[in-house]
Amino acid sequence: MLFPLLINHGAPPDETHPAYNHAASCAGFCSACGREHTLAAGLAHAECTALMNLLHAHDTVDMLSAEPDPLLSLDYLRGEARGQMFGVLVCRTPQGAYGTLRAFSGQYNGIWSVPGWVPPIPDVQEFDALVRQDDPPIRELSRRIADLDAAPHPACACTDGHGTEASGNSAHETRKQLTDQRKALSQQAMRRVFSLYRLRNFRGQCAVLHDILPTGKGAPTGTGDCCAPKLLHYAALHGFTPLGLAEFYWGRKNRSGTRQHGSFYTACTEKCGLILGFMLCGLASPAGPKSVTQGTNDADTP
Ligand SMILES: [Zn+2]
Ligand SMILES: [Zn+2]
Repeated sequence: MLFPLLINHGAPPDETHPAYNHAASCAGFCSACGREHTLAAGLAHAECTALMNLLHAHDTVDMLSAEPDPLLSLDYLRGEARGQMFGVLVCRTPQGAYGTLRAFSGQYNGIWSVPGWVPPIPDVQEFDALVRQDDPPIRELSRRIADLDAAPHPACACTDGHGTEASGNSAHETRKQLTDQRKALSQQAMRRVFSLYRLRNFRGQCAVLHDILPTGKGAPTGTGDCCAPKLLHYAALHGFTPLGLAEFYWGRKNRSGTRQHGSFYTACTEKCGLILGFMLCGLASPAGPKSVTQGTNDADTP
């Protein structure tokens, strides 16, 4: 795996740059601090535009390979799977250099890791092993439920006149047992998968995804797989300081039409909103080489 940080040259971006975008591109409520943490887009839009140009020119996400994997062609985003989110994080290294990290959301055509892109948060081998172990019994239950649904309404062999209702009830009971069992297994499997997401933040803390969810709340499948958490986790793990983040959609527009080719979007609230408060914790706010506002906010005097 090639190191995914692309080092930029020239002056590091700061908040005084005319193109600096102060709008928050991702946010989440941090229960430890009792407030929302945000990260601005900063100069990440320009880096996204550069990435869009590269995608356009290479027509693959396997841009560093001499012989790109056909599975990683952009044909995938034009087909039935439709488009996907891409993201860029501008950050500063502990040595003071600055560069950009790039991510695609989730897997790309079933592939987790592609050179030049940040890896997923969980260990891929552990993830695949869990799925191999947990999926078959869930699929078996789904098959049995489908069989029940496809069967003709249970006929009654009894002669007491109540049999039809009784066996109808028992089919209903069986179905309910199976769906309850499937629900319990799915929840267990989900919890086990989420235990592989050991999230880092900028306070040097590490927490399992499940433990940072608001009390009593579950998280949707795929939480932690969007670009923002992948990028922030990688940055925190390697001691990089985020300076700006932006995400855009690339490919055939999604079915509901809420995602359009080449448009920018802020991090999602339904998944990322649950974990970004923890993940952004410890970042100077707003992010920048010098946190100008921190001093002025604290001192309420001229
Ligand atoms: Zn998201
Ligand atoms: Zn916090």
